[in-house]
Amino acid sequence: MKNTPCPLSKKCGGCQLQNMDYDRQLKYKQALVGKLLGGFGKVERIKGMDDPTHYRCKVQAAFGTTRSGKIVSGVYQSSSHRIVNVDSCLIENEKADAVIVTIRSLLPSFKIRPYDEDKRAGLLRHVLVRVGQNSGEIMVVLVTASSQFPSKNDFVKALLNAHPEITTIVQNVNIRRDSMVLGEIDKPMFGKGYIIDTLCGCTFKISPQSFYQVNPKQTEHLYNAAIELAHLTGEERVIDAYCGTGTIGLIAAKHAKEVLGVELSESAVRDARLNAKLNKAENIRFVCADAGEVMEEMAAQNESCDVVLMDPPRAGSSKQFLESLVRLSPERLVYISCNPETLARDLRFLTKNGYKVKKIKPFDLFPFTKHVETVVLLKKEEPILR
Ligand code: SAH
Repeated sequence: MKNTPCPLSKKCGGCQLQNMDYDRQLKYKQALVGKLLGGFGKVERIKGMDDPTHYRCKVQAAFGTTRSGKIVSGVYQSSSHRIVNVDSCLIENEKADAVIVTIRSLLPSFKIRPYDEDKRAGLLRHVLVRVGQNSGEIMVVLVTASSQFPSKNDFVKALLNAHPEITTIVQNVNIRRDSMVLGEIDKPMFGKGYIIDTLCGCTFKISPQSFYQVNPKQTEHLYNAAIELAHLTGEERVIDAYCGTGTIGLIAAKHAKEVLGVELSESAVRDARLNAKLNKAENIRFVCADAGEVMEEMAAQNESCDVVLMDPPRAGSSKQFLESLVRLSPERLVYISCNPETLARDLRFLTKNGYKVKKIKPFDLFPFTKHVETVVLLKKEEPILR
């Protein structure tokens, strides 16, 4: 696929590989993973997308006013607080973009002003739209600087009139002064206040605050590969470390004896428990704690574990986690990584401590950006009998 570079690419900075056609992007990522991980074994061919455009199912736009008084919405210009006006984006869901443009055009007639951080005046700070890839449900979150919303019902009516496909609208009140997009209070204005989506045969509830992969199509391929590599037979005790809202663990639970999900964020664990109920999964439980500490405790108590699935943040895993993992000594380890550099570092440790890399497969979850995900299967090395 040949692409014409986006006119906003310099100001936005989100798509670093903007100037490469998609085949070259895949080759670039393949080479990057090859360079960092090729020493551990053969790197399989990267799984790209058939259509690499408009994959982002979560779209966020900041709202503001230019000096001449025009309302703009889009992304912050790299390392500044100036907003680059975005009407449509190569990688964002097109419906989500259209909804945001509609909201921008509705504001003047409702006399709603974007929030001005310096003057601390105005109302609308951000709009977040989430689209359920498989369910088709659409959630619109209007992030406001105070809890009022003038002509709320008429605004909702006008928005639904333009986009009847919206299934829920939520007002999120954010009175903070930092750069966090969402505040703590969610007030449903229309519909149930969240959307549902399905991934690998499981159902997930996505609230305004929930973490959920932004490219569900590719995530499905990634998770299916991870589960396949884990080679679950229904007998295994599995740990899903850095489990987020429990996605991988819940999919694994269908094929394992029991799963323990470990996650640091309280709200993610709350969502994970809800997702377990939603999927009637009774063989999974979650603890809210540092994954390294939980692993250390389990190793100290000589607990057994057959398979560890791990999906740490970009920084990779901690020494404490990896050392305890080696002590726990699961047969198989499936490492899902969003950063091949820290992955290489962690693999160096694991391969020096009794594990062997059996498979390395990259996935392109974020076309046009420099990011690449990799799933790696490691197995415990058999002791050499003499
Ligand atoms: N596996 C999930 C989420 C992966 S993102 C999914 O695919 O949806 C990484 C997760 O690790 C985040 O949810 C983050 O909150 C969590 N995390 C970060 N540091 C952690 C730590 N020290 N212990 C446990 N979880 C941690």
